Amino acid sequence: MSRVVIVGGGISGLSAAYYATRAGHECTLLDPAPHLGGVIRTETVDGCVVESGPDSFIAQKPWALELIRELGLEGDLIRSNDHLRKTYILRHGRLTPMPDGLFLMVPTAIAPTVTTRLLGVSTKLKMAFELLRRPVADPPDRSVADFVRDHYGAEAVDYLAEPLLAGIYGGDAADLSVTSVLPRFVEFERRYGSVTRGVLAARSGANSGPPPALFLSLKGGMQQLTAALANHLTRVVRAKVSRVEPGYRVHFDGQSLEADHVILATPAYTAAELLRGLDPELADLLAGIRYHSSITLALGYERSTFQQPLRGFGFLVPRVERRLLTACTFVGTKFPHRTADNRVLLRAFVGAGTNDALLDRSDDSLAGDVREELRRLLGLTATPLFCRVQRWRRAMAQYTVGHERAVEQIHARLARLPGLHLAGNAYLGIGVPDCIRTAQLAVAAIDALDRLV
Ligand SMILES: Cc1cc2nc3c(=O)[nH]c(=O)nc-3n(C[C@H](O)[C@H](O)[C@H](O)COP(=O)(O)OP(=O)(O)OC[C@H]3O[C@@H](n4cnc5c(N)ncnc54)[C@H](O)[C@@H]3O)c2cc1C
Repeated sequence: MSRVVIVGGGISGLSAAYYATRAGHECTLLDPAPHLGGVIRTETVDGCVVESGPDSFIAQKPWALELIRELGLEGDLIRSNDHLRKTYILRHGRLTPMPDGLFLMVPTAIAPTVTTRLLGVSTKLKMAFELLRRPVADPPDRSVADFVRDHYGAEAVDYLAEPLLAGIYGGDAADLSVTSVLPRFVEFERRYGSVTRGVLAARSGANSGPPPALFLSLKGGMQQLTAALANHLTRVVRAKVSRVEPGYRVHFDGQSLEADHVILATPAYTAAELLRGLDPELADLLAGIRYHSSITLALGYERSTFQQPLRGFGFLVPRVERRLLTACTFVGTKFPHRTADNRVLLRAFVGAGTNDALLDRSDDSLAGDVREELRRLLGLTATPLFCRVQRWRRAMAQYTVGHERAVEQIHARLARLPGLHLAGNAYLGIGVPDCIRTAQLAVAAIDALDRLV
């Protein structure tokens, strides 16, 4: 049994503590926040389940689902209403449906691609000719924008790739690495040349039968998961860690704890500062991972005052349309159990990027501008019953071009510091399942090291 100190109590740190405790280690988790769970935060407001951070996770990556089952929460799993799934994109001020058959920005059905009003003729032709591309032996890392422009044209970047990825990373397709963000598409390019042919081939090889749900969540919201994990903690210290010294000694509030293993489950820029005294080069690599900020607004309405049809899961706003909003989800359409029958809940996103001035604006000012945009886009004039504004400063790691290489370098440096481990959204993927995976890998590394000594 080892003494394991976990720094950070978001989903990464909480799941690391869970797996390490299950493996028989003595665990202490440190986090200064009054609320454990990091960016995962659910409130029930006036008959609505309001998520300020993630509202779900993708079903395709198994790690969150496995953990939920292990924690006995399977009975509370909910699936996205995929039969109602439709996403609208703002184009020239009008909400236009995304064509059916799109897999992210990859067209897989002919008729909807030909007839869509979202894309012009030259993009449609480029999409058709994409099928003729030849395999690429060793594709280099590039930005997602360069990759998509090359395959499908500039319009597919502006009206598909950019808004879709902004919703996940809060980032810019011109900066994000295609190798890190869309690795399967790079593999398809290598094998088939055409990404469309790759997607079609993968589909034809998949099991027939009803498609699995796209997104999963929990009836009581994502916080049900972090609350269940927090219940398994044996020791929590509500304190901010200031540094980690060799040995390892973890310092906080003028005190310290000795540990055989330390898992740093904070954002990478915090891990960088905690480790600077131990390994400045590692600290520089970690500090090199950029983060963007984001703002979510939950607007709850009395249904009888809400006249607009809620078609689909919501809409995305491409950057080229120059609005404050980047996306808006119609929560009650996307998931069951989220709103009382007499309520309508909208979840609006404002991509703050690195714009601190936006984060510093008052709730009233942000809510006023978002409501004005909703009026223009949806004709929505009803007064909300409530509006919750949540700012997430530097919460979304940016997987920029060269990210995969940077993570390899981080792991190479980390190998010189046995007993020190990293978990979080900066490394293998930004989603909740990816964070859980990093926690599993950190605990597996602890077990592997312990077996050696
Ligand atoms: C608005 C938003 C929407 C999202 N939507 C989705 C979604 O729908 N699906 C999905 O899969 N993912 C989504 N994500 C991404 C995902 O939620 C996050 O990547 C993930 O939850 C991050 O978890 P984490 O534990 O790594 O980090 P965090 O949640 O950021 O937790 C880090 C913790 O470290 C603590 N900490 C920081 N410094 C110190 C210190 N010095 N000492 C001790 N503790 C410290 C903090 O207090 C915090 O609790 C979303 C993210 C955001 C912000």
